[in-house]
Amino acid sequence: MPGWVTMAAGVVLGVAATLYCIAFHEIARALVGGFGSPPLQVLTAIVGSMVGVLPLLMLVPLALLPAWWFGRGLPERRRTQRRCPDCAYPCDRFPCPECGGDGTVAPRELFTRTGLMRVLVLGALIFAISVVWAEVRIRRDERLFRLEVDRLLALDVREPLARPREGWGSFAILRYDPALGFSAPQPFDHERIPGWRAIGREASR
Ligand SMILES: [Zn+2]
Repeated sequence: MPGWVTMAAGVVLGVAATLYCIAFHEIARALVGGFGSPPLQVLTAIVGSMVGVLPLLMLVPLALLPAWWFGRGLPERRRTQRRCPDCAYPCDRFPCPECGGDGTVAPRELFTRTGLMRVLVLGALIFAISVVWAEVRIRRDERLFRLEVDRLLALDVREPLARPREGWGSFAILRYDPALGFSAPQPFDHERIPGWRAIGREASR
């Protein structure tokens, strides 16, 4: 039971942290701009994401709490209730007639060295996986945009085309200009483009 609860809490926190990291990196990439994953922009976005996920450190005590509770909090409470710390059997004298436990509660801090290391290593792993996953999603979206543009070029549409990015970066656009090629301008650095909702309706200059 304690193992289950500790594990479930870890999984829930891990999934939440993963979703947060993916969303943050997609937003950072959209803010930085750049089409086709240019290394400098990707690196800039990764640094931004590192800063952006720092608030997740507040979840570390939460991640350590279940193991602490079952290792110390719960046994101590049983002890004050005159029950066996290990099995909760009502008894005053030890060894416990039910489980043979000696009635001691192991001293255990919330922030143990191994616990902290484990959470931080896992956190770094989650961050790395999330960044890769977000990059995969971004590349896939840009590849789809290329295909959409190719399709329109095949229909002989010769005007600038644009549409929002997919996912969390949808406040920024992907853009194709017959003269300049593909680009993904910084969302707060480009002129508002008419018809940015639908692909291919931008007024020509
Ligand atoms: Zn017992």
